Amino acid sequence: MKLTLLGTGTSTGVPSIGCECETCTSDDPRDKRLRVSVLVEHAGQSVLVDTSSDFRQQALRQRIKHLDAVLVTHCHADHIFGLDDIRPLNFRHGALGVYANERAWVDIRRIFKYIFEPSHFGGGLPQVLAHTVEHGAQFCVGPELNVTPVEVIHGRLPVMAYRFNDFAYATDLSEIPPGSLDLLRGLDALVLDCLRIRPHPTHLWLERSLEYVAELRPRRAYFTHIAHDIRHARDSALLPDGVEWAYDGLEIEG
Ligand SMILES: [Zn+2]
Ligand SMILES: [Zn+2]
Repeated sequence: MKLTLLGTGTSTGVPSIGCECETCTSDDPRDKRLRVSVLVEHAGQSVLVDTSSDFRQQALRQRIKHLDAVLVTHCHADHIFGLDDIRPLNFRHGALGVYANERAWVDIRRIFKYIFEPSHFGGGLPQVLAHTVEHGAQFCVGPELNVTPVEVIHGRLPVMAYRFNDFAYATDLSEIPPGSLDLLRGLDALVLDCLRIRPHPTHLWLERSLEYVAELRPRRAYFTHIAHDIRHARDSALLPDGVEWAYDGLEIEG
């Protein structure tokens, strides 16, 4: 199993437009964060979580040639606005399975109405095979990659985290309900939302993220969806052993 963090930034990306703070002007590549997305590769299968607003740039940088599935955490702009850019993959490999919860599908069908209710001829449209996921209803991509959708709460919105065998990816959340905690135990690696040090109404912040790590006890944890408040080198000292700030291009293998 290999997870590659294609983006680790909050919704604005880092640097943030117009900002001249210490992080936004840093020349440490770990302080340059595209919008969050992760590539999961296992047993010949490649799965992308979220077509971020930076998907095209991420796919080019990662040299993505083929995907077996796209999983959607939720339908906020930073996580879904790259959906149109799956077209070059469709041209070569045909329609692509996209997995999202029912709530996200309502919004995806509204925002990308032209995909689902085409009203014109010509012009390549993304070819999407829509699949609806439900909390705890495991499915497989290929013979060996088990995916378990796990519902977590982003402010008031139920969004999907995903478990892949003994790895899990849980971003954009402020709370993990008790019935979801149990699906996130016994992990080798957990990638978890951690926006910044100060509290936030819809995301985990440092203290809360560390509390969940202490409760779930993954062997390794990586924090993502990071705002410009965090400067990688300076703020790594805030984290205990076994926990790191993720950064774009980080590969987690196991
Ligand atoms: Zn987000
Ligand atoms: Zn800044």
